[in-house]
Amino acid sequence: MFQKILVATLSILFFAFVVCIGYDKNEKNMVQNEEFLSQAVKFHGHLGPYMILGLRAGLYANQVLEKDPMQTEAIIETLPQPPQSCFVDGVQFATGCTMGKRNISLIEGEGLKASFKKNDKILILTLKQEIIEEINSLPPDDEEAWENLAKDLYQREIEKIFKISK
Ligand SMILES: [Zn+2]
Repeated sequence: MFQKILVATLSILFFAFVVCIGYDKNEKNMVQNEEFLSQAVKFHGHLGPYMILGLRAGLYANQVLEKDPMQTEAIIETLPQPPQSCFVDGVQFATGCTMGKRNISLIEGEGLKASFKKNDKILILTLKQEIIEEINSLPPDDEEAWENLAKDLYQREIEKIFKISK
């Protein structure tokens, strides 16, 4: 009986702690956190699909490698201009890897590939071709369509967005 009460109390305390700091290692829980999303949008300046994809990649890297803004290195390979480069801001916001600390870099390349390194662990996420095509098919000036796809991508299963190799 005592043990059950203790477990229940500890669970409540842990839950309260997670709610207070607003951070959860599990990326599935983080995408339900509306405050996190609205802060990210504020940081980037608008809600777009590539920033959202960067958030998803960064949150997933946090889950796999354990978040560490000092020890993690992120290398993003894509076209070096918006909208593709917006991805970098999502990764910076989620992982804490920043331009200032020089632990995130953008290399010009085809498609979109994000590599995360921490100590001897590596995670590589490659954006699936069908997602690139889905974004490319959006009417360029239809802001609402871009925002709607961004919101949709935020909730989609990670395996349906990226090819994942660890
Ligand atoms: Zn953007």
